[in-house]
Amino acid sequence: MAVLAIDIGGTKLAVGLVDTDGRVLVRREQPTPQAPPGRGREVTAVLLRLVDDVLAAGGPPAAVGLACAGPIDVVAGTVSPVNIPAWREQPLVAAVADHLGGPPVVLVNDAVAMTVGEQWLGAAQGVDAVLGVVVSTGVGGGVVVGGRPLLGATGNAGHVGHTIVAIDGEPCPCGSRGCVETRGSAPAMVREALAHGWDPAPYQDTGAEQRPDGDDPASAPIADGRALAAAGSHGDPIAAAAIDRGAAALAAGFVSAAALLDLDLIVVGGGFAASGETLFAPLRRHVAALSGMAFLHRLRVVPAELGRDAGLIGAARLALLA
Ligand SMILES: [Zn+2]
Repeated sequence: MAVLAIDIGGTKLAVGLVDTDGRVLVRREQPTPQAPPGRGREVTAVLLRLVDDVLAAGGPPAAVGLACAGPIDVVAGTVSPVNIPAWREQPLVAAVADHLGGPPVVLVNDAVAMTVGEQWLGAAQGVDAVLGVVVSTGVGGGVVVGGRPLLGATGNAGHVGHTIVAIDGEPCPCGSRGCVETRGSAPAMVREALAHGWDPAPYQDTGAEQRPDGDDPASAPIADGRALAAAGSHGDPIAAAAIDRGAAALAAGFVSAAALLDLDLIVVGGGFAASGETLFAPLRRHVAALSGMAFLHRLRVVPAELGRDAGLIGAARLALLA
């Protein structure tokens, strides 16, 4: 029996068929379309075409696990991802269910799915109290306690990226200010570095396939998280300082979450977490510096192990358990 798993983030849409052992049998992904508010149906149509591609390769699913960047509303079946402005209270569960005409659709926050995946088959196996964090376009979070996701009233528990670390900080796309995400997301760290004169030119990927369609590889350098991480790992002091500032905000969110929930482990995944010790070294240093009470001192911060499949695997797991 295979389950259809969908993982929607601000950066990419991923769809796969996953078996009961967590093996990803078929997988398709593409960048998340950038559509303005009011044109949510266009994004939905792109997602459903991706679903059709996967099902054409693998046959009808027994159930559907639908993981989406937050906020979501599992009661209403709607999604309003901070970093997908085209979708506001978008009735995505109904759209997917109507399109497939049969199997039940389980909606979950994408970072909750990632955390469930890591606890099932990845870095958090056998660990009781885990916060999973996705550091990418935004900063997502999900909590698993005793093997079960902590959902809260509407499925939004775990939004560590929108806990506030600077009460007079800069506005956040979520509508608040001073959130972890305003300093700790990859774009926020890139903005910080550029504001201090960072030059991304020496840290570009050489492959022309990394360029947007039609772009001349010799045109302006791309200042993104990948280039920033490369600069940090090569000792660029401006890049390192920007990553350190982002890591401090992430660490403040992590320690606050651990104080609230008495966590054993924080698993960090997402595109920017792939930069390895460039991020994890300052992250661990700031977590240690901010951890006061004794029960916080056993908190470990580790990289996710399931990579880009964690959300799909976790979404499938939740569909199987439903
Ligand atoms: Zn926010």
